[in-house]
Amino acid sequence: MAHPGETCALLVAAGSGTRAGAATPKQYREIGGRPLLRHAVEALFHRRVDAIQVVIADGQEPAYRRAIQGLELLPPVVGGATRQDSVRRGMAALGMRGAPDRLLVHDAARPFLPGAVIDRLLDALDGAPASVPILPVVDTLAKSADGLGDTVPRDALVRVQTPQAFRFADLKRAHEQWCGGDASDDAQVVRAAGLHVATVPGDASLEKITFESDFSRAEAMLAARRVPRTGMGFDVHAFGPGDGVWLGGIRITHDRGLIGHSDADVLLHAITDALLGALGAGDIGEHFPPSDPRWRGAASGHFLEHAAALASAGGSEIVHVDATLICEAPRLGPHRQAMRERIAALLRLPPASISLKATTSERLGFTGRGEGIAAQAVVTILAERAS
Ligand code: MG
Repeated sequence: MAHPGETCALLVAAGSGTRAGAATPKQYREIGGRPLLRHAVEALFHRRVDAIQVVIADGQEPAYRRAIQGLELLPPVVGGATRQDSVRRGMAALGMRGAPDRLLVHDAARPFLPGAVIDRLLDALDGAPASVPILPVVDTLAKSADGLGDTVPRDALVRVQTPQAFRFADLKRAHEQWCGGDASDDAQVVRAAGLHVATVPGDASLEKITFESDFSRAEAMLAARRVPRTGMGFDVHAFGPGDGVWLGGIRITHDRGLIGHSDADVLLHAITDALLGALGAGDIGEHFPPSDPRWRGAASGHFLEHAAALASAGGSEIVHVDATLICEAPRLGPHRQAMRERIAALLRLPPASISLKATTSERLGFTGRGEGIAAQAVVTILAERAS
């Protein structure tokens, strides 16, 4: 069985290494609020990659499941004692499923992978059984002994990165023939089998995360990539019989209530829609259909928390909320601070990041006639630039 024309990616994340005294294996440590492994997997979601297979270490399945939540991947494979064993096991699993034509082999310790590198590698496979991304060596290289030793000419040297691309059958054969020790990468195995390995330009962002200082460098890189995005929300609920209204997650005593399927918190609905707008994630009605009996009388704080969870799962940071309530009554001034604090708590932000204003519509229109309350909101987030 084979999957002709298919390209798969094999992500090796089988290390148990906890360098620098960290409690968590490197691939599960977070940068920008998400595990390294998740960044690496997400970068492999590319229009020319059909399926992704991750090789994990024994006993790390719970951490793996948490890290990849919501992503569609092939079932994970447990790796071996060496990187090479792990690659072989991953390939065996792919072979059972039906061998693909092409395979990208990548390391979870390289979380940033520009899509253009994948394109270059796969294009190069048209003319060679294997291709690797390389970068020149720019620093002076010298042998180290007891002090500084002889300089090594760097013109003849390159740095080899991953992912590395292979025609699947060739890589499989090369691994079967390999009789050296632990290979440092798969290109070495393929070259030992006498096959040509083409090179394409690599990318500085593909640097491997090895040392503690690399984590701070990666954090800074992520922060620099973030761009502000803004979403707006608007909502209206009509007054009906009742003795109070929910606004901004606070119950305010009033001579009427607001009509709605949930608790009719018009302010939280507007803010939720603004946040979903900034995320490009549809609107509140899509996430919580009014036709669904689960949301009857629901506390709207739940809707806002759901949108906030979507933001953090997508690597976005909420930075500011500005909202306006429009009504003649009830008077909102006395409750403004409590509403700000409640909204801040739902979004896990300081109250200073929540701006809340109230206005009347000068007795004009439905709000002016006291038929209902309207709310509008603008939410600003910092999101990863879409690549
Ligand atoms: Mg509503």
